[in-house]
Amino acid sequence: MPRPITFKPGEKVCLADIDPRKIDGDWDKESAAERMEQNAERTRDLAYRLYAENRRSVLLVLQGMDTAGKDGTIRAVMHSVSPQSCQVTPFKAPSNLELDHDFLWRIHQAVPRRGNIGIFNRSHYEDVLVVRVHNLVPKEEWRSRYERINEFEQMLTEGSVTIVKCMLHVSKEEQRERLQKRLDNPNKRWKFSKGDLAERKLWDDYQEAYEAALAHCNTKHAPWHVIPADRKWYRNLVVSELLRSTLEELDPQFPPSESGLDDITVV
Ligand code: AMP
Ligand code: MG
Repeated sequence: MPRPITFKPGEKVCLADIDPRKIDGDWDKESAAERMEQNAERTRDLAYRLYAENRRSVLLVLQGMDTAGKDGTIRAVMHSVSPQSCQVTPFKAPSNLELDHDFLWRIHQAVPRRGNIGIFNRSHYEDVLVVRVHNLVPKEEWRSRYERINEFEQMLTEGSVTIVKCMLHVSKEEQRERLQKRLDNPNKRWKFSKGDLAERKLWDDYQEAYEAALAHCNTKHAPWHVIPADRKWYRNLVVSELLRSTLEELDPQFPPSESGLDDITVV
């Protein structure tokens, strides 16, 4: 099965050494589409069981540079799951109210409740990515956040949240093409902002910030996965596979029904 790239806890990560076009095995668009269908069906069933069981939850964290495909991945991987048991939370620049609290305040509120699958489109990792690159808080403060994040994630996993963290890894050239497509397509222009070009200029700083986050916060309880993301169909396949296998490992069970139901007929 197509696997994401993983690292040992504490291992140094060099994104330049990971090929964003890497493919595991001999998958192509057609075989991937077929497998995606199977994954969707299986995920629907397992998510239904997770909801019925109402004991545990799954949190999928999606990070990646602009245009890496966070929105597209969510569309492709989650369409089969009942909206009742799944929430997507996008994290934008914090509001004034959010800035008046610690950086994990808004994050904690969005953690999926028991029985649910939650997806973070960006996350608390922005607080060691964009915040680090732009020095939005003093260095001592963002440096201490890696440890705060590890503690926070450990608390969540001990409280029955399974955390799946994915970094969608695109190349700088692929980003150029995708930004250009946004400019050229009237239906995609709304996604483009001039600020995206300013951020693109900071590409190397962002890669370095990602490498630090991937290395410092790759824990046993909440490991990171790097997803080769230059090919959208492959990116979707790897994430859907990861979600499916996570749910299969959890193996959620329907709760026992009340006793004495066998003799009841509804009239
Ligand atoms: P988008 O994903 O294109 O809607 O953009 C969301 C923007 O919010 C990105 O530019 C992020 O860098 C920014 N953002 C998200 N979280 C934070 C944060 N904690 N601090 C500052 N900016 C953030
Ligand atoms: Mg954007």
